[in-house]
Amino acid sequence: MTTNVPAYAAPSAKAPLERTTVPRRAVGAHDVLIEIKYAGICHSDIHQARDGWGQGIYPMVPGHEIAGVVTETGASVTRFRVGDRVGVGCFVDSCRECDYCRQGLEQYCVRGMTGTYNDRDGNGDPTYGGYSTHIVVDENYTLRIPDALPLDEAAPLLCAGITLYSPLARWKAGPGKSVAVVGLGGLGHMGVKIAHAMGAEVTVLSQSLRKEADGRKLGADHFHATSDPATFEKLAGTFDLIVSTVSAPLDFSAYLSLLKTDGALVNVGAPEEPVALNLFSLINGRRTLAGSMIGGIAETQEMLDFCAEHGLGAEIEVIRADQINEAYERVLASDVRYRFVIDASTI
Ligand SMILES: [Zn+2]
Ligand SMILES: [Zn+2]
Repeated sequence: MTTNVPAYAAPSAKAPLERTTVPRRAVGAHDVLIEIKYAGICHSDIHQARDGWGQGIYPMVPGHEIAGVVTETGASVTRFRVGDRVGVGCFVDSCRECDYCRQGLEQYCVRGMTGTYNDRDGNGDPTYGGYSTHIVVDENYTLRIPDALPLDEAAPLLCAGITLYSPLARWKAGPGKSVAVVGLGGLGHMGVKIAHAMGAEVTVLSQSLRKEADGRKLGADHFHATSDPATFEKLAGTFDLIVSTVSAPLDFSAYLSLLKTDGALVNVGAPEEPVALNLFSLINGRRTLAGSMIGGIAETQEMLDFCAEHGLGAEIEVIRADQINEAYERVLASDVRYRFVIDASTI
């Protein structure tokens, strides 16, 4: 038996989000029913709600930064109990059999992970995301949110937090490493906090110096404006790792020149258009240009535990559900410091 629950959905690519109800499946043996407390607004929510990637499934309930509390458990659930504080990120299932799933890299599942929304589950039914009061999720795709993290500040960690944690961990940000974060938005601000907590020397590369005070408060040791050509001369050969969070097309050759020998530039933001690259900027200095997408379930749990240990929540502005459309416009105008979080009790 499915249950209809309140949600905010985009009825079509061109329409604003509005209050409606969507079906949630009956709680299966391995499922938990989660009462959603908060849902972050990720830039990709806006992109998908407006069908930026094509083939959007409507009505669409976005939201893959979900924090809530377990209110019911299936008969075979062992990992969670009623009352547990939990999170759900960008995916709610995967094939569980391929090499990547077995290694805990479910985000790279060869059969494709099942997105938390704008996707279809194993039965072919549409998935609906976190702009809602309740969600039913398999316990194996549910994260534990440590008590030290407030649920509202924890919600954005499920996408923004893990998107930055994963490359910082993989490319070993830490003491003695010089790390630059390009762009200080929802993703970038978590990158600064996490890289600083890992012990790295952190530089923000932002278009202007407008957010310098914020950047330093978040843990940056240095802050430079990329609109100033002198920045690229001054910082040539400086960084072990650069993580770019921007979706605007960058001059990749210029950014690569900021790396030391064996340094890596990792993209977590993605420009829509193909980019041009002078390959000498890779050959000189044996540099790497890489990409990274969220993280697996085990690593996402590791990230939540790390953030709890270091007191790292997201910087948030909590909004009511009826402010979602306005919030979308503000995200597009970069007018948010640094993440909107929907109070699900207002849905
Ligand atoms: Zn996201
Ligand atoms: Zn798989």
